[in-house]
Amino acid sequence: MADCLFCRIVSGDIESNVVHQDDTVVAFRDINPQSPTHIVIVPRKHIPSLSDLADVDDGIVGHLVRIAAEIARTEGIAEQGYRLVANCGPAAGQSVDHLHFHLLGGRNLSWPPG
Ligand code: AMP
Ligand code: ZN
Repeated sequence: MADCLFCRIVSGDIESNVVHQDDTVVAFRDINPQSPTHIVIVPRKHIPSLSDLADVDDGIVGHLVRIAAEIARTEGIAEQGYRLVANCGPAAGQSVDHLHFHLLGGRNLSWPPG
């Protein structure tokens, strides 16, 4: 989608600090990090949110989650622990309507989240 920020990052139209990319997903450092490691992982396919997932997307999400765990290892946060979170909808604070998961780590993360 031409007017979607993350579609434009996926296409390379907007620069980002990419840490992983393959045929299915792109992962890049968050521009406003909330922890020492904060990476946004998005599917190349434009899916607005978790609520819009269809059964044909199961492979995409499975791959994305596995890649998140792989990136956590590469970033050196796997052993201490990390969080993978997707905000869905306004009450959860979703600000970009292209499905994405936040990979957060490098500090102790409180629970419950705010
Ligand atoms: P959310 O609020 O869950 O929709 O997450 C959107 C995230 O995208 C926020 O953490 C933003 O800091 C991040 N973000 C927005 N624009 C950019 C950008 N150009 N490059 C990297 N991250 C971005
Ligand atoms: Zn998009």
